[in-house]
Amino acid sequence: LSSRGQQEWYEELERCARLYSGFNEAVPFIRAIYECVDRFSADHQITAPVHVDPDTASSRLRAGCPLDLNPDLDTEHVVELLRRMSHTLVDVSPELRTFAVALEDSLDHFLADASETVRKDDVWGLRDRLVHETQLKQDLATLLFCSALSCLYRRWLQPTAEAVRTDLWEKGSCPICGEKPHFGMLRHEDGAKVLECWLCGTNWLHTRIKCPFCDNENQDDLGYFTVGDQEICRVTYCLRCHSYLKIFDARRLDSKRRTILAVHNLATLSHDLLARQEGFMAGSGLEWVNPEEMADRPKRTGKIVR
Ligand SMILES: [Zn+2]
Ligand SMILES: [Zn+2]
Repeated sequence: LSSRGQQEWYEELERCARLYSGFNEAVPFIRAIYECVDRFSADHQITAPVHVDPDTASSRLRAGCPLDLNPDLDTEHVVELLRRMSHTLVDVSPELRTFAVALEDSLDHFLADASETVRKDDVWGLRDRLVHETQLKQDLATLLFCSALSCLYRRWLQPTAEAVRTDLWEKGSCPICGEKPHFGMLRHEDGAKVLECWLCGTNWLHTRIKCPFCDNENQDDLGYFTVGDQEICRVTYCLRCHSYLKIFDARRLDSKRRTILAVHNLATLSHDLLARQEGFMAGSGLEWVNPEEMADRPKRTGKIVR
């Protein structure tokens, strides 16, 4: 990342801390994880980005087939990045030391057992095992593994995403890597719905009143809620497949600054909790909510808007 990109990211973190209540206390933590990712990126060059012929790729997308690019990830890179994050965690929150020891122990085993390269699913399997076998919380596990995987994926796939005609794509999952979205936005200029891949960062347009997960277009089954008087984050849901995703209304944001949706997502995890309490599952499959929070917290305070 350029230092300009870095600056934008920090500014977005500050803006989100002002926009969304309750995010302020998480900022030092998120900032530390981000710095960790950033330093890792600076220290490691990706030597062989994925090569795709843009014309062939564009005709595939036109025909409705995703490229499904899932790079082989260097196992040592994955382990090193997660290990650095683990150190960062302890620096920011010393009470996480026990967990960090367990994580690093698992990473040692993972490195010893896995081959030279691993796939996304192998890394995700490690996450699930950690949650199962250690005290690692769902939200923290998702934060660490999403940050690590998306750092690696973006570096591999961004040049491809920029070279192919993603404007030819209108399906619900990512045209480049096939992942299901967790968030998107209503574009500042015209309110068009743009989905963003949390993993590789690709953006694409999607029909405004349509569920990206089951393609449902029936207005009666689709809705959203916002929380309190904060109207930027809409939790959009589908009553047919009982999934939700978050759509940020960029028309309510200062247009002079770039909107970094990944930050808005982290700043609104309380919305994920409310969505889960309403009985919806994340269509992305990402679990940002701890089971004990589901039981603890009072029910939704927002409103349902159809
Ligand atoms: Zn993607
Ligand atoms: Zn649906």
